[in-house]
Amino acid sequence: MVTIVDTVTSSASPLRPRHPEKANKPDTAILRKPSWIRVKAPGSPVYNETKKLIKEHGLVTVCEEAGCPNIGECWSQKHATMMIMGDTCTRACAFCNVKTGMPNPLDAQEPARVADAVAKLGLRHVVITSVDRDDLADGGAQHFVEVINAIRASAPGTTIEILTPDFLRKAGALEKVIEARPDVFNHNLETVPRRYLKIRPGARYFHSLRLLQRVKEVDPTIFTKSGIMVGLGEEREEVLQVMDDMRSADVDFITIGQYLQPTRKHAAVERFVTPDEFKSYERIARTKGFLQVSSSPLTRSSYHADDDFAELRETRAAKLNQ
Ligand code: SF4
Repeated sequence: MVTIVDTVTSSASPLRPRHPEKANKPDTAILRKPSWIRVKAPGSPVYNETKKLIKEHGLVTVCEEAGCPNIGECWSQKHATMMIMGDTCTRACAFCNVKTGMPNPLDAQEPARVADAVAKLGLRHVVITSVDRDDLADGGAQHFVEVINAIRASAPGTTIEILTPDFLRKAGALEKVIEARPDVFNHNLETVPRRYLKIRPGARYFHSLRLLQRVKEVDPTIFTKSGIMVGLGEEREEVLQVMDDMRSADVDFITIGQYLQPTRKHAAVERFVTPDEFKSYERIARTKGFLQVSSSPLTRSSYHADDDFAELRETRAAKLNQ
């Protein structure tokens, strides 16, 4: 398990907690990981190449910032998920390991660097996410647009999936991003509505659901995707209700993965959901009409996103030809 209070250094403050809002919280108990949470250790030659390229381009990845368990596997295939608009988030969700605080101003050169990295990695499909930028008037929508446009110019054969914040109280921001026509618009509901106040206190369940629905209303050709973590104290019936809610918002693709606790100051893992339970969620989600489902202990929004996108496209095409 990681350190009790993780710290970061910066020129302004040589040693500050990575999550100042969590520093004084009581430690939570740590559950021992079960045998099915097994990951490939990082360090293959391609992993090292990916790491070098990300560093040389001065980019931030959610793979590193969130301490994703799949990094060894994903980076060995050059599948890095870039996190734009800095490494500091203006929200403070109880599950998330991304640093919190007041972010730096946007870097106008970042879209070009992201696009160059995507071209050099030779990706078939790229996932771009961001921190929450409640400090910006448009929540960072224009920056997303610039990143999408830059990738289209430098890597025209690469399909683009974005995983966005909720743009809460940012009128017109969502529509701006939709106009840039990403191939997949992903926004995670993260957990069931009953757990929002504890787990995602700065967000609103129905706002997030409405955002997904609005993407389809404005441009039905864009695939929509959303995910939740399980093991955070939700009941099975609540997960099934979230599936129904997503389907009524016309969401195409659902991801369900096990929550893993980054530090003792984060929300506790209430339990480890078994692989059979994940399979059962997958079967149910398919019967509810999702075009694509990824449900497994190590499922993350961007895990296997390229293969899943290929399948998603094929499934929709087959349906349209029926
Ligand atoms: S699952 Fe996503 S966040 Fe995790 S390492 Fe893979 S690409 Fe990065």
